[in-house]
Amino acid sequence: MEKTSLKKNDETVLEITDMNALGSGVGKYEGMAVFVPFTAVGDVIRCRIVKVCKNYAYGIIAGIEKASPRREDRGCGVYSKCGGCCFRHISYEEEARIKEKAVRDAFSRVGGFSEIPFDEFIPCPEHDRYRNKAQLPVAEENGHLICGFYSKRSHRVAKCTDCLLAPEIYSRILCTLLEMLEKKGISAYDEITGKGILRHIFLRRGYHTGEIMLCFVTSAECAVLRDIARDIISSFGEIVSVLMNINPDRTNVILGKKTVLLAGREYMTDIMCGVKVRLSLHSFYQVNTAAAELLYRKAYEYAALTGEEEVLDLYCGAGTIGLSMAKGAKKLTGVEIIPDAVENARFNAAENGIEAEFLCADAGAAAAAYAAKGAHPHVIVTDPPRKGCDTDTLDAILKMSPERIVMVSCDVSTAARDIRYLADRGYSLDKVSAADMYAGTAHVEAVALLSKSKKPSIT
Ligand code: SAH
Repeated sequence: MEKTSLKKNDETVLEITDMNALGSGVGKYEGMAVFVPFTAVGDVIRCRIVKVCKNYAYGIIAGIEKASPRREDRGCGVYSKCGGCCFRHISYEEEARIKEKAVRDAFSRVGGFSEIPFDEFIPCPEHDRYRNKAQLPVAEENGHLICGFYSKRSHRVAKCTDCLLAPEIYSRILCTLLEMLEKKGISAYDEITGKGILRHIFLRRGYHTGEIMLCFVTSAECAVLRDIARDIISSFGEIVSVLMNINPDRTNVILGKKTVLLAGREYMTDIMCGVKVRLSLHSFYQVNTAAAELLYRKAYEYAALTGEEEVLDLYCGAGTIGLSMAKGAKKLTGVEIIPDAVENARFNAAENGIEAEFLCADAGAAAAAYAAKGAHPHVIVTDPPRKGCDTDTLDAILKMSPERIVMVSCDVSTAARDIRYLADRGYSLDKVSAADMYAGTAHVEAVALLSKSKKPSIT
């Protein structure tokens, strides 16, 4: 490409012709892609260039000449500062189109699949108020305690007690809490000096039960929080658990190791796909319950259980996917690395009258051990964190030679990479669906079905 004449601070008229998976519109200037956030395909904008790289540039909207019909104001006055949502300026239909394309692109570009057996796009059932979890940083502003979100690419807390993705009740709880905390003289933790007490406020709510867990994340033990815990529980009957988690470290990781019960019980409960679940603070729980139920149903469909199969659920958290499938399985085993989540999974199985085994271990190590013992589960479900599975884990899965592998993933690129690895070693990609659990944001989930290929293995 010829060197562009484009410079920082130039202003140019740009037509937006495409959209990337992170929600930025893309226009062409002298053949070069210019990425502009908060635009829509069909917009004609005046664009101010903010950065020029070798083959592309970044711009911002300086004015809109012609607004695209794909635009829709989905509310929220802070999304452009917050960085949580990138699709609140376009219709959900357009967001869904972009997300489906992102999944297809990952499978073709990263996975190298020339034909993608795309099954369906499962839309997010609710577009607002769907998040069951909130973790809000706390700070001081003009002598008052505030909580909210870190402004985009910064560690400055912007005040916001009513994120449109969180349940409405969180806003009322937070406003009451901040008042109580201020009255008792609780200070906000300061990341720069390392001084002050309260770092984050964590909230999690059961979608079907309405039960709420509240946790104060502090830099040190703080006895006064016990009084506040008692008071907040008596103001909000929905709060069943108040905890204090102590994180003295200078780190971005929110939760520390030590947790103390301040009021109520140590867990909250919910129901997922008809299974009663108990959840501790450290246990992973899908943030959008209604959407996760749709995803789990798709995973269950792909598992095609007849009552005769052994199912191995790797990265099982509190056991939710496996337990939702247990009705169709002969035997269920789950593997998870967080001890509290494993304890929850065991309890959840017993509570629902399901016979299952849960192992607290690294999924890869456990899979290798099962493979070495000659285990041959019919179906293996995997739901790893964003980085996906490593090759040792995938090799152990291959060694167990399941009939079907159901891969659930919160990162479509690593899923496509891992599926390519399996596809090169005797498995065929039969179906892939995209499931949107995070309307408004750039995240999208994928679920794929692989089966032992009838064709001879490539390796
Ligand atoms: N399937 C569950 C959890 C998915 S999130 C659900 O749908 O709720 C991924 C889970 O993998 C988390 O619970 C995390 O604690 C766990 N995990 C992360 N690394 C792991 C590893 N190396 N071995 C086993 N589990 C791991």
